[in-house]
Amino acid sequence: MTSSAMGKEFQTFLGWADDVKRLDVRANADTPEDAQKARDFGAKGIGLTRTEHMFMAQDRLPVVQEMILADDVAGREAALAKLLPMQREDFYGILKVMAGFPVTIRLLDPPLHEFLPSKEELLVEITKLKCLNGDKEEIAEKEALLKRVEHLSEFNPMLGHRGCRLGITYPEIYAMQARAIFEAVAQLTKEGYEVEPEVEVPLIIHINEFKRLKDLINGVGDAVKEETGVDFSYTVGTMIEVPRAALTTDQLAKEAQFFSFGTNDLTQTTFGFSRDDAEGKFLHTYVDQKVLPVSPFVTLDESGVGKLMDMAIKAAREVDPDFLIGICGEHGGDPESIELCHRLGLNFVSCSPYRVPIARLAAAQAAIQNK
Ligand code: PEP
Ligand code: MG
Repeated sequence: MTSSAMGKEFQTFLGWADDVKRLDVRANADTPEDAQKARDFGAKGIGLTRTEHMFMAQDRLPVVQEMILADDVAGREAALAKLLPMQREDFYGILKVMAGFPVTIRLLDPPLHEFLPSKEELLVEITKLKCLNGDKEEIAEKEALLKRVEHLSEFNPMLGHRGCRLGITYPEIYAMQARAIFEAVAQLTKEGYEVEPEVEVPLIIHINEFKRLKDLINGVGDAVKEETGVDFSYTVGTMIEVPRAALTTDQLAKEAQFFSFGTNDLTQTTFGFSRDDAEGKFLHTYVDQKVLPVSPFVTLDESGVGKLMDMAIKAAREVDPDFLIGICGEHGGDPESIELCHRLGLNFVSCSPYRVPIARLAAAQAAIQNK
C-alpha cells in the first residue's frame, strides 16, 4: 500500500485517531525515500536511522573495509575522510525530507566483522586461488584479510565489540559520523530548513561511556559551528538496550537529553538469549507449549522487560518530568506493545514506515482504553 493509496476516508479516519492519541508515532528509516514514505503515512519524525545500512551500500563497502583493515588511526582516518561526504549526503537527504520534525540518527552499532566477508568464504577463495596457481599478490591480500577476520571474530557478537564500545575504541568513527550530521545540519540551516537532529549513542551500559562520547560529539558540533559560522541546535541521547542502562537511568538522565528503548536488544539481554538462536532453535516450542504466551520479540514482555522500562522511565522522570523517551525496537509497530507503551508514559513509538498507520490507530485505541 502506498500512502496515496490510503484513501481520503482512511486519512480522515486516521486524523481522528491522531486527535485522541497521546503517543507520537515516528518511523524507522535509513534513506530519504523511506523517510518520505514515513512522512506520507503521517509519521511525526524519525525515531531511528540505522547508519550502518548506509555503510553496507555496494559503492561504500570497499571504503568501509579499507577503514576496518587499516593498521592505525591515520589509515582509518584516511578511509573515513572518503566516507564523510557520503554520510553527509545521506543525512542531508533524510533531514531535509523530515524538516520540521525530529530525526534520531544512531551512530554505528554492529560489530565491524559484519562488513567483512566470512572466514569460510575467504578460505574457499584462497584454496581455489592456490589450486589454480593464482596471482600471488591476490593470495597474500586475501590471507591478510582472513587474518583480520579471524582477529575480529567473536564468540558472542551480540554481546561483543559493538555499539558505543566501537565509539570508545575507535573514536574517529563516531567523530566522522557526528561531523557528517552537523555539516548537513549547517547546510540545511543555511538554506532555511528547520531541522531537529537527535544524535543517538547505541548500547550504553555505563554513564562514563555516555559522558565521554557526548564530549566527543559536542566537540565536533562546536568545531562545525565555528568552521561554518552557522549556529544550530541538536540533542544527544542514548538507546536503552541492556538491563544495566535501564537500571541506571537516574544517572543517564542527568547527562542525556533523550532515551529510546531498543527493545530488540533489551529483550535479548533481559531474557539472556540471542534472537537468532532462540527463533531458530527453541522459541517456537516455548510458544507452542505455552511456556511463553507469545514471542517476546513480537509483543513486549510486560512483566519482565516492561518492568525494567517502567523503572527506567520513572527514574528518568524524577530527574526531569519532561524527559523525552521513546521506543524504536520492532515492538513499536505492535498494537499490544503500543498499548503498554502508552501506559508506561512514553512520548513516542517508532516503527517501520508501513506500520505507521496501524501504530497511529493503536495509539488512539490505547488512549481510549486507558481513559
Ligand atoms: C533494538 O535493539 O531494539 C534496536 C532498535 O536496535 P537494533 O535492532 O538495530 O539492534
Ligand atoms: Mg539494538
